[in-house]
Amino acid sequence: QFERVGFIGLGNMGFHMANNLIRAGYKVSVHDINCNAMEKFSDKGVTTKATPFEVAEISDVVITMLPSSSHVWDVYTGPNGLLHGGGLLSPWLLIDSSTIDPQTSRRLSATISQCQLKEKKDYGDAPVMLDAPVSGGVLGAEAGTLTFMVGGLEEAYLAARPLFLSMGKNTIYCGGTGNGSVNSLTIFLLLIFFIAAKICNNLAMAVSMLGVSEAFALGQSLGITASTLTKIFNSSSARCWSSDSYNPVPGVMEGVPSSRDYDGGFSSKLMAKDLNLAAASAKEVGLKFPLTSQAQEIYMELCKEGQESKDFSCVFRHYYSGMDE
Ligand code: NAD
Repeated sequence: QFERVGFIGLGNMGFHMANNLIRAGYKVSVHDINCNAMEKFSDKGVTTKATPFEVAEISDVVITMLPSSSHVWDVYTGPNGLLHGGGLLSPWLLIDSSTIDPQTSRRLSATISQCQLKEKKDYGDAPVMLDAPVSGGVLGAEAGTLTFMVGGLEEAYLAARPLFLSMGKNTIYCGGTGNGSVNSLTIFLLLIFFIAAKICNNLAMAVSMLGVSEAFALGQSLGITASTLTKIFNSSSARCWSSDSYNPVPGVMEGVPSSRDYDGGFSSKLMAKDLNLAAASAKEVGLKFPLTSQAQEIYMELCKEGQESKDFSCVFRHYYSGMDE
């Protein structure tokens, strides 16, 4: 149904996702505020545009993959944003894959539903928005094995499914009613569910990364190398994703951020963002979550000390420096 795809936000995730769309044969144009990120695409002949609006002008569908709610809101509604055309839009489908709070998604859907399409389509004359946060991390983005959790109009979801499957291997449709109208309350509740699940997942990941890092540091100071400890952990009860797939000690595993100076991956600032959301939820439910607070403090401190763009597994280097493999 569409071949021209605009992609905005070419960071750790977006870079790979846009590349997978190009590989799948879509005509992709891209935008990012970071010129270096754009250069990686212009160097190989991909169309780059200076503003989100310019991307929108030449696209049937636009995908955003941005750090947080405020960035998404700016890219849509800011000067030269996607909606800059005075309510008249070229793309009929707008997909946000960033992890953002559901209130912003809802506000954005409501704003978009007031817009009109420049060219009327079979199903109607208004553009449609899908929320499609992902799980699977940078490795999944690179391998094209992400899972998309999609909220929005079912027809739009079905039309966009081939796009999702060019970047991932699973799509879960989680909301939207028939009769051509989106039940925003249903979508809101489902998105809250998925965002909540994502926050819980990332909380467990943050805490397990800290636990594994401390255990490695202790082991190394007791004279056991990180490689030996990794073998032991991975065949016993300490085995977890942080030890067997995303080891934080430089040199233990190939292809993970710790082995490339903690570049790429899931940045400390995004982890701090998710831990802040987890801590706020913990407060709301009125329970004490001591590890959540501790992890939140550690990752916020990491950001303050200049590690915000490094992968979150850099907690190992930050707190236990001098103990690399
Ligand atoms: P990132 O910080 O690496 O990339 C974000 C990109 O957006 C950057 O290139 C940045 O320059 C660009 N950007 C920021 N503001 C912009 C603006 N106003 N206009 C245009 N471009 C702008 O983040 P990421 O790791 O790629 O994550 C993106 C989203 O995906 C986040 O919401 C994150 O929570 C979510 N996510 C990340 C992972 C992961 O493992 N990294 C996994 C699942 C979900």
